[in-house]
Amino acid sequence: MFSNSQSLCHNAAMTDYKASAPNHEQSQLPGLTPDQLKRLMQDWGKPAFRAKQITDWCNKGILNPTEMSNISNDVRQKLNNELLCEPLKLVRRECSSDGTRKYVFALKRGRFAGKMVESVFIPEPRRGTVCISSQVGCVLDCPFCHTGTQDFEANLTAGEIMAQILAIKADLRAEPIATSEALHNDVTHIVYMGMGEPMANETAVHESISLLMCSDGLNISRRRITVSSSGLTPQIQRLGELHPVNLAISLHSAIDAKRDTLVPINRKHKLQELRSCLNAYPVGKQRHITLEYVLLDGANDQNDDLQALIQFVNPERERINLIQFNTFPGSPYCGTSKQDMKVFAQHLISKGIRATIRRSRGDDIMAACGQLKAATKLNNKQ
Ligand code: SAH
Ligand code: SF4
Repeated sequence: MFSNSQSLCHNAAMTDYKASAPNHEQSQLPGLTPDQLKRLMQDWGKPAFRAKQITDWCNKGILNPTEMSNISNDVRQKLNNELLCEPLKLVRRECSSDGTRKYVFALKRGRFAGKMVESVFIPEPRRGTVCISSQVGCVLDCPFCHTGTQDFEANLTAGEIMAQILAIKADLRAEPIATSEALHNDVTHIVYMGMGEPMANETAVHESISLLMCSDGLNISRRRITVSSSGLTPQIQRLGELHPVNLAISLHSAIDAKRDTLVPINRKHKLQELRSCLNAYPVGKQRHITLEYVLLDGANDQNDDLQALIQFVNPERERINLIQFNTFPGSPYCGTSKQDMKVFAQHLISKGIRATIRRSRGDDIMAACGQLKAATKLNNKQ
């Protein structure tokens, strides 16, 4: 694991530091690897230890050079002039009674300036999970998903993906969560389950995973990173080859005709293709692929749905996460009742399938799965 993350850092360093800026836009500080920063300091004729100091600030979530108190004034100025140091502006933060925090950020980059993304921090007693966005909107249009009802507007850069996590780290340091239950107050786990389809923004997602795993950076093990995808099979295969992180799949139906509607990417990549892709995905000992299944009343919770799901799942390598449907204004579906969800889960368990019902977090602030959608858009298209 350790040597793997080191070699990833090394590979990233082979590219020029400007390479991480798409469309020749300004490079973003949180999108640079520690090695790229070292090269930048070299180019500026500055000592290598400056790079280490800047990396240490970034790891704490401090991206504003003026707050980097041990950095010389001229380096601070150069950072400010030549890089986009803070690619996101915090627009709003909402705190749920269960400790969950939802953040709304505006992009600052070129023609995308002002577009909003959302991220969520979910604290538990022994872990703190950040759910990050990889796109503004989503092209895939799953009709039960709030994000899917929004137009696709932008792919995030690796810097913008990292900046969500770093801003949350800084916020938790400045204002730790205080609830009656003792909850984790730092980021230990990352899930790509916010707005957008991570596998449709493959390059930036791979770059961000390298950055997360970098031993001089946040040094987050791949076992603590989960990518959720609706089933873009060629991209999932590449993820398994390059960055075999935990994989979650938005399944939602094991019947092609139904999945074609619920998860429209199924029209292109059918269940059989998904099956082969999942069989080939590398899963270590004690690990498994998660099949996510939102239970929708009458739409995918009937006996034929259950039987198809039992047929589809490989219980040796996969587990099913039954998700309570989170409603949103204008949603065409209703969730299955809690009682029926339990019965559905019991049927799966009786067949030797690991099935859990995901506890919904932060739904009082619309931070739960599928509810993320930048507020500015709410009035336009609901
Ligand atoms: N695009 C990726 C990741 C973002 S969606 C994907 O589809 O996997 C993250 C998870 O939230 C997915 O499992 C998705 O199916 C689920 N989800 C979307 N809308 C939901 C809703 N309204 N209620 C509950 N879960 C939802
Ligand atoms: Fe996109 Fe995932 Fe929502 Fe489908 S569920 S519209 S893939 S974000």
